[in-house]
Amino acid sequence: MQASAVAAMAAHAVLAASLSSHPLLSPLPNLNPSNNPSLHSSFHGVSVKFPRQSLALSIAAASPKKPLAVVAATKKAVAVLKGTSNVEGIVTLTQEDDGPTTVDVRVTGLTPGPHGFHLHEYGDTTNGCISTGAHFNPNNMTHGAPEDEVRHAGDLGNIVANADGVAEVKIVDNQILLSGPNTVVGRAFVVHELEDDLGKGGHELSLTTGNAGGRLACGVVGLTPI
Ligand SMILES: [Zn+2]
Repeated sequence: MQASAVAAMAAHAVLAASLSSHPLLSPLPNLNPSNNPSLHSSFHGVSVKFPRQSLALSIAAASPKKPLAVVAATKKAVAVLKGTSNVEGIVTLTQEDDGPTTVDVRVTGLTPGPHGFHLHEYGDTTNGCISTGAHFNPNNMTHGAPEDEVRHAGDLGNIVANADGVAEVKIVDNQILLSGPNTVVGRAFVVHELEDDLGKGGHELSLTTGNAGGRLACGVVGLTPI
């Protein structure tokens, strides 16, 4: 039915639009030219036949739009840090929706004091912690402190070990993410031998590594059950 009904309406509209140039036609009883001005202008002076394409377009335009899906999600991940010395640790990560990620760090076996702590680019430990590459740096920045605007995404500053060699730190960070194009899942945390100078030490390595020295232990980030 639809096509013929619409065609009839179209014929009606064309007729209405053509009235002024056809003195022989009498006005239609329910004529209302303001109903659809665009139809009038596009059909003025054209044949009564309703084009199929226009019919399809008008149906498509009337289709309701898909509602946006809103999915709330908690994501969790863990990295188990191991090395060639007795330094070891656990890093757990939790991210709610698209918010910042909470990174809970516990490392043992350290010398007391600060140690550079970073997320490195690769989750590749085939050559120990060396093969995890450089600091994760998707935005091509120079090395910095976690609170700096110019920093590697992987720059988490220092963790500080107590007299027993234990460092327990909670970090909340906006650039350590568990989903999206810059996710840290599959990359690796590394704890370093020395203090990270946060790019301000004036050493030739300050702007790339913070001159944090060797890699004591590392672990690849993997998703865990929530
Ligand atoms: Zn860095």
